[in-house]
Amino acid sequence: MKLWRFNGGLPSLAEHKNESTHLPIETAPVPSQLVYPLRQHIGNAATALVKVGDYVLRGQKIADAQGLISAPIHAASSGTVSHIADHLIPHPSGFSAPSISITTDGLDKELPPSGQPDFRQLSAADLVSLIREAGIVGLGGAAFPTAIKLDNQSKSRRIDTLILNGAECEPYISCDDRLLKERADKVIEGVNVLLHLLGAKRAILAIEDNVPSTFKAIQTAVNQNNNPAISAAQIPTIYPTGGEKQLIQTLTGKEVPSGGIPADIGIVSINVGTVYAVQQAVIEGKPLTSRIITVTGEGVTTPRNLEVRIGTPISTLIDVCNGYTQDADRLIMGGPMMGFALMNDQIPVVKASNCILVASKHEAVTEKQAMPCIRCGLCASACPVSLLPQQLYWFSRSEQLEKAEKINLLDCIECGCCDVVCPSHIPLVQHFRYAKSALKVQHHEKHLSNVARERFEAREARLAQEKADRAEKSRAKKAALKEKPAKETIDAAISRAKAKKQNPSEGEG
Ligand code: SF4
Ligand code: SF4
Repeated sequence: MKLWRFNGGLPSLAEHKNESTHLPIETAPVPSQLVYPLRQHIGNAATALVKVGDYVLRGQKIADAQGLISAPIHAASSGTVSHIADHLIPHPSGFSAPSISITTDGLDKELPPSGQPDFRQLSAADLVSLIREAGIVGLGGAAFPTAIKLDNQSKSRRIDTLILNGAECEPYISCDDRLLKERADKVIEGVNVLLHLLGAKRAILAIEDNVPSTFKAIQTAVNQNNNPAISAAQIPTIYPTGGEKQLIQTLTGKEVPSGGIPADIGIVSINVGTVYAVQQAVIEGKPLTSRIITVTGEGVTTPRNLEVRIGTPISTLIDVCNGYTQDADRLIMGGPMMGFALMNDQIPVVKASNCILVASKHEAVTEKQAMPCIRCGLCASACPVSLLPQQLYWFSRSEQLEKAEKINLLDCIECGCCDVVCPSHIPLVQHFRYAKSALKVQHHEKHLSNVARERFEAREARLAQEKADRAEKSRAKKAALKEKPAKETIDAAISRAKAKKQNPSEGEG
């Protein structure tokens, strides 16, 4: 199929995939303790449905979505709720946050999977609700609740193309590759569900051209499925081709408008791991309680991909991979380009965890002394979003946030291409992350102040109206009182006249 090329990117980034792809997916054991941060998706944190001492089963909902953008959480094994308290979470801040801890009992008793009707008999709304109840979020790392993505599209926009994102462009990460190699048939079943839900005309499953054996596995599954609407595409290996907007441009030549979403141009894009979770929920009746994760790097003895119960501490994953090597220097969640450092290995796997990189000193990105910008322009040439990183850096650094926003700071996908090429070693992405969060805080404060102003104005208007009503009432009352004697006099005169008419002698003296 015809392909397009997005601007910039890094075509020759060292991949480091082979280290973890030569072994099949291994299932990690149930740990003695599972920990579930209540916020492990974009949007509102979930609300706990259990209390300390409760016994729970595998697949049981232990926390429910709160508000529209949120997702429920399900226990990944049977056991007793031991704590509901703050626990270290996988987040760049290194913060702790409210979490449910379950001490497992080793029995792994399961809530019976719900019997599902044929998905073709279900409406889009029913499917969206099923996907929401299963707690599915984007497993490519974004963790945006999938039901919202699908619901918005099906309600308000005409979707003609569904893109399945198997382009795992970040170095080291290979969980989607192993998933497609081993379970391509299930992924294609999930594609059929989504095609039915969205009413899209076609689905394209895209992977990079550096994994030909995976492409073969996908093609076999596509051919066996025999749905002419589904096709597979091999795309050039250029970082960050797996970025949503970059992938859409590569496959369709269309650009998602700045500040817009793919549905604005009739497209929905979903990660292949998420599609597998949809298949598990809709066809096999299982909520999201596990995921595939890459454990790799020179700091771990046997790098590989594991199927892990969500809530498992990272230390268990390291044990399954035969422990740390002497080279282990730091733990990174995600890849070397977009990942972040973890405080320790007691942090649990969450839905968004696609990779644990146990980096050696030489693998970890060491911060070099930043030098002044020499205006070489290399960062702009490398930016896949066609931004001007050098100017963004200037505005971010000098806290001219409105100017940075005007030149589309919020479109930055934090891919790190500009960092890699900058000869002055300026940590550009760090500045952009900081400026983006500061802008978001500013927007939020502006929103709160607008809401407060609107409420104040509404109150003032209500008080003014009440005052006017009271004045009108009092005026009407006074007028009625003034009118009363006159009216009474007239009434009396009429009565007298009537009486006189009936008895003319009355009143004559
Ligand atoms: S981090 Fe942002 S500015 Fe830098 S290359 Fe990526 S998208 Fe462009
Ligand atoms: S690559 Fe670095 S030195 Fe060159 S223009 Fe960009 S910020 Fe300046």
